[in-house]
Amino acid sequence: MQRPYNFSAGPAAMPAEVLEQAAAEMLNWPDANGRLSGMGVMEMSHRGKEFLSIYEAAEADLRELLAVPANFKILFMQGGGLAENAIVPLNLSRLRATSGNGAADFVVTGTWSEKSLKEAGKYCSAHLAATGKADGFTAIPPAASWELRDEASYVHICSNETINGIEFQSLPDLKALGSKAELVIDFSSHVASRPVDWSRVGLAFGGAQKNLGPAGLTLVVVREDLLGHAQSVCPSAFDYKTVADNGSMYNTPPTYSIYMAGLVFKWLKRQGENGLTGIAAMEARNIAKAELLYETIDASGFYINGVARNARSRMNVPFFLRNESLNDAFLTGAKEAGLLQLKGHKSVGGMRASIYNAIPLEGVQALVAYMREFERTHG
Ligand code: PMP
Repeated sequence: MQRPYNFSAGPAAMPAEVLEQAAAEMLNWPDANGRLSGMGVMEMSHRGKEFLSIYEAAEADLRELLAVPANFKILFMQGGGLAENAIVPLNLSRLRATSGNGAADFVVTGTWSEKSLKEAGKYCSAHLAATGKADGFTAIPPAASWELRDEASYVHICSNETINGIEFQSLPDLKALGSKAELVIDFSSHVASRPVDWSRVGLAFGGAQKNLGPAGLTLVVVREDLLGHAQSVCPSAFDYKTVADNGSMYNTPPTYSIYMAGLVFKWLKRQGENGLTGIAAMEARNIAKAELLYETIDASGFYINGVARNARSRMNVPFFLRNESLNDAFLTGAKEAGLLQLKGHKSVGGMRASIYNAIPLEGVQALVAYMREFERTHG
């Protein structure tokens, strides 16, 4: 069955193969050798051998896919990206503090990093190191202009701003900027779309509901030596050390979401083209998809994307119709053409095509064909 292409920003499209496998295993999960367990994954104890095997495979596959070094812990938590905006400072703000609750610096490139700064201010000294707000969040402030404080334990960036469509094409090298702080990245909306340079990262977090699986699972990847510095008021279930020491089973983890993400990881491992596999194959495909869509927008004169070329997101492509009175007609026609959830975020309006891993090149080809035809008939 050919399903419509779904451009939702999240929760977002899943690979059809993954949904089919989950459906087939819904009532009676079989292990890797095909032995039936007699129960569905939702019904399993998180401490039973069946679920533990699902958990361990998911963690190992993710470690392999993202090339996570051995000195980093992978934590499967709950609460989403917004809870991490509090959990990160509660755990890390005191890393370099001799007294008080410590400090963190924030580079604000859009809605999500702006929220992170505001939330962290409840728990520590949170400082705006740089912002792209004056330009309407259309570019990344150059790293040389960031006001980094000596006392900051970490510098927070959102490496892909889902609403504004801004992506760091490489992670900042804080050491080269003369900073001793750790780099924290919110990679919610581009995790697994490209490799991560872990040599520059202290902690990365992201909700699963864009590129990894269903909502409910929050991924945290943290270097081991950053554990054990939490503020005393940090809830135990959100203390990374407690979570790590208990193999993400201090509290009941989101078992079904972990299982689904595990199926996505297996799907990612099966991807390959032009001699590339896994995340490298996804990255090549994501570059081709994004180039096709941005080229179509730039060549049109009918559609606009105002983001600086070197900061354009490969995952979330916001665009506007010059004649906004055509927005409803565009969306209605898109739906009829099997192109779903293209409406932009309410805070910015216009359109947004989120082209995560589960959207194939054919999905973007169908979208640009529709956009060209709409321009031809309404331009
Ligand atoms: N950070 C980013 C980059 C996001 O895109 C989102 C959700 N769209 C969040 C944080 C918030 O995530 P959640 O809703 O899972 O708390």
